[in-house]
Amino acid sequence: MSEMMDVTEDKPDPAEEIRITFLFMGQGDCVLISCPDGKRILVDCGSTGGLSDTAWLRAHMMLRSDDGVAKRGGLDALILTHPDLDHCNQIAGMLLGAKIEATTLDGVKVEAQTTATIPVNDVYFSFGSKDVNSPLAAYAKSGASDTIYNRLGVKRLHLVLLNATASGVRTWNWGATDKPYADTPLNTGVLEVAWGTTASKKRAWSVKIIAGGVAKATDDQSDAGGRNAGSLVTLLQLGTEKALLCGDATVSTERFLVANRGALISGLVTLQAPHHGSSRTSSSPDFVNATRPKSVAVSVDLIEYSHHLPGKDVIDRYMATVQDVTRHRVDAWQRDPRFQKGTTNQALAQLDQWRRDGVKLERKQSKVDDEPVSEGPHYIRADQEDVTDVFVALSPAEGYLCYRGNSTKDIHLTGLTGQVDYLTYALTGE
Ligand SMILES: [Zn+2]
Repeated sequence: MSEMMDVTEDKPDPAEEIRITFLFMGQGDCVLISCPDGKRILVDCGSTGGLSDTAWLRAHMMLRSDDGVAKRGGLDALILTHPDLDHCNQIAGMLLGAKIEATTLDGVKVEAQTTATIPVNDVYFSFGSKDVNSPLAAYAKSGASDTIYNRLGVKRLHLVLLNATASGVRTWNWGATDKPYADTPLNTGVLEVAWGTTASKKRAWSVKIIAGGVAKATDDQSDAGGRNAGSLVTLLQLGTEKALLCGDATVSTERFLVANRGALISGLVTLQAPHHGSSRTSSSPDFVNATRPKSVAVSVDLIEYSHHLPGKDVIDRYMATVQDVTRHRVDAWQRDPRFQKGTTNQALAQLDQWRRDGVKLERKQSKVDDEPVSEGPHYIRADQEDVTDVFVALSPAEGYLCYRGNSTKDIHLTGLTGQVDYLTYALTGE
């Protein structure tokens, strides 16, 4: 073999890999899948905080770049895991064309321009409405339903049910004037979204939905409506390598996956931690043991103080399975149990220490769905960009502290890396 060919083989070849790009959305989710045959699939697109103008522009332009859909001309599929705003309220902001003022982005000049709308062929979703003429009614609050119905040239809508009691897909021919729909059973328990064989190495690859509409169990601490448990779960495979995207899946979804999709989810190369790394609802020990991921991505805002994400016990659980990588920062929230006994808590002691040390602090109130909640304020170190191995934020009223550590384990937070770079992974089958 010639030297030149060796060099060629060392370069990543888009036709031989599945690339997964986690875009930084603040508190939210937006994941781009680039398939070996050039197909482009977006999983979710939403944010309920921390999406600065710069971060918005970066994601908006990235989606239109060569790494995005520039060569493809649009998205082959959009997968909406569930109707929560942090997963779908940026469909319009990211996919519709927009007027951009001249500016610089990461040191590169951006010309004044009107960007193009990104058309979408197929939309896959959970939580269909009973009104068959408005299948995306659950997504109306986010504005996603109107955008999808009328502005993206969508050809088909697919309501996916893959759970303990149902296995099928209802597909609307949305491009037709009378919008007929048909039900198809999914006897294999999965719905293939895209698949093929790589061009030169002839490796089989696929993108498939393996769970959807799972019912919330009574001991599940997640949202009362069960929207999170019903999240669509997407499995990517290339050769023997696998990655799993989980939306806001909870312990209910995880139990379904472990019991019914155990072989599919075992030995992952990459896992998107369910529900932004929530330790209250997700990443149960059984699920972590069943998946044993080599790398974990957490979609989360920088110092996510409204829900305290990700939880330290979840991060610790994955630390035991992931591989070693170069040193980087990882944030994790922990709660001081002494607070619950009503005694002086560690958060209050840390706040006193910061004040004695003259640390400059930002004061922030928790928000849920953009509404302030009545818990006490959070204090965030103003110098947190420059520090590690210390607490960077805390809430004395609730006893929560956010610790920023250094780690050589392959767990990355979009909120720490996504400020400048995207978080990308590749399945290569090697
Ligand atoms: Zn979410």
